[in-house]
Amino acid sequence: MHSTDVIIIGAGAAGLMCALTAANRGRRVVLLDHANKPGKKILMSGGGRCNFTNMYTEPGNFLSQNPHFCKSALARYTQWDFIEMVARHGVPYHEKKLGQLFCDNKSSDILQMLLDECATASADLRMDTRIEQIEKTDYGYQLATSAGPFQCQSLVIATGGLSIPTLGATGFGYQVARQFGHSVLATRAGLVPFTITDQLKALCTELSGTSVDCIASCNGTSFRENLLFTHRGLSGPAILQISSFWEAGDTVEINLLPDHDALVWLQQQQAERPNSELKTLLGEIFTKKMANLLAETWFVSKPMKQYTPAELGQVADKLGNWQLVPAGTEGYRTAEVTLGGVDTREVSSKTMESLKSPGLYFIGEVLDVSGHLGGFNFQWAWASAYAAAQFV
Ligand SMILES: Cc1cc2nc3c(=O)[nH]c(=O)nc-3n(C[C@H](O)[C@H](O)[C@H](O)COP(=O)(O)OP(=O)(O)OC[C@H]3O[C@@H](n4cnc5c(N)ncnc54)[C@H](O)[C@@H]3O)c2cc1C
Repeated sequence: MHSTDVIIIGAGAAGLMCALTAANRGRRVVLLDHANKPGKKILMSGGGRCNFTNMYTEPGNFLSQNPHFCKSALARYTQWDFIEMVARHGVPYHEKKLGQLFCDNKSSDILQMLLDECATASADLRMDTRIEQIEKTDYGYQLATSAGPFQCQSLVIATGGLSIPTLGATGFGYQVARQFGHSVLATRAGLVPFTITDQLKALCTELSGTSVDCIASCNGTSFRENLLFTHRGLSGPAILQISSFWEAGDTVEINLLPDHDALVWLQQQQAERPNSELKTLLGEIFTKKMANLLAETWFVSKPMKQYTPAELGQVADKLGNWQLVPAGTEGYRTAEVTLGGVDTREVSSKTMESLKSPGLYFIGEVLDVSGHLGGFNFQWAWASAYAAAQFV
């Protein structure tokens, strides 16, 4: 029986951060993961450059059925604390936009930094280890694993959500939560592209690869970012962001003229350029191909002077308030996060410890806390891990 102070299951962002922080406190830490390599999502993140935090992180950037839960941990380990570690390790980074901090080089800089910190603090990292059983004992917790039995005082579940199963994601954390009497809130894919199957599909396929600035809105929330047409439907940051607020059957509104009031702009064009065709004017805002396709699909393109006020209103409605009902999302296969998860009402917001089973902790994405796109999900992983690491 291998006996230790702390066992952390899951060597992703949260697990590594918790391991290095607890080990730096002098705790004996063993970090177990079933995958062959740690931090696979870190490596894949941010298009290979890891958007590791956001300078403007606030509780309002997170979704949860218990919106206050994330506040305490985010306040005790802020974006500036993580930036300090990044700077201390000499990892070059830059702000891409909207406070999003990315590595100049590769995501592996962040993973290597965490692994170096774990090694310096003597956290014991063991990959390729399957967890077969967990039991509560008088001492704490006992684990049967493919690497033999372990026991610990504190057990931390850092196994993440369901997104990208090919990177090692499993529902294991939810299973452990249920075993120890926790409620798990319904999960669904978040930060995920929409699929389109109706008559719009042809437009999306034709425009695949085209990106446009827009405001995407759903259920009272809006994001101004780029929209990307794909072979399957719609993606790009605006769509990924709004997908977290969308549920099956909901309508998404897209304003393709975010800098203008669509009707005022069209009336102005009609007055100033009466002989110009609508598609020519749209070609000055969108690509020519997109302008032509929109003109063919949505309107009859003709010289501006020929539009009646009612027709102009219809065009404005389509451009400024394009309403669509996605068929669905691409699901966990491509989602950046899992919405829902372990109900935070049964977890201490100060320590991340279970209120049902003392000595059991949940951190990172396994909890019902999901960030917007832009580095917020990693900041939650760092902050929740740091909070737990003070108490394990
Ligand atoms: C493609 C992609 C890009 C992303 N880009 C960004 C970004 O740029 N910025 C950002 O903030 N967020 C990004 N995210 C989200 C971010 O990666 C996650 O929110 C974050 O990794 C969650 O950390 P975690 O430690 O909770 O879980 P994970 O990082 O998913 O780690 C969980 C670990 O648990 C292990 N595990 C799972 N099941 C078991 C089991 N049964 N037994 C043992 N081990 C197990 C896994 O192998 C994994 O190592 C991205 C996500 C994806 C999928």
